[in-house]
Amino acid sequence: MNTISPLEQALHAARALVLADLVAGDVAEADVVSLVEDSIVQRRWWVEQWPDGADYVAGLVAQDVQDALLERYGRWPLCPACGSGDPHALDIEPELGPDPHWVCHKAGVKVAAVGDLASATGGAPSS
Ligand SMILES: [Zn+2]
Repeated sequence: MNTISPLEQALHAARALVLADLVAGDVAEADVVSLVEDSIVQRRWWVEQWPDGADYVAGLVAQDVQDALLERYGRWPLCPACGSGDPHALDIEPELGPDPHWVCHKAGVKVAAVGDLASATGGAPSS
């Protein structure tokens, strides 16, 4: 049996979405990708305990990576919506729920769905 379980599908999708956003922010370096993998390992355990949370995994992984990046690199992703003022990071909303989005609390706007940050920052990188 090679059927992929719904849990694995959710984890796979979460990984792809967060990686897409990292690529959009030009921070998808090898050590950053390993932060995503670390989060996926932890969230696999989490979602095995609570399968109903499968829809929430993408938002959680995005927040895990955001926290890990804050310690090592700084704020990510920087808000593309506000043109002036102090640079600030976007937040995930809902923190624990399906269909997570990046939001700017300063401007009070939804910036992009998780995985679609490239559309808010001027398209995919040229490389
Ligand atoms: Zn903003």
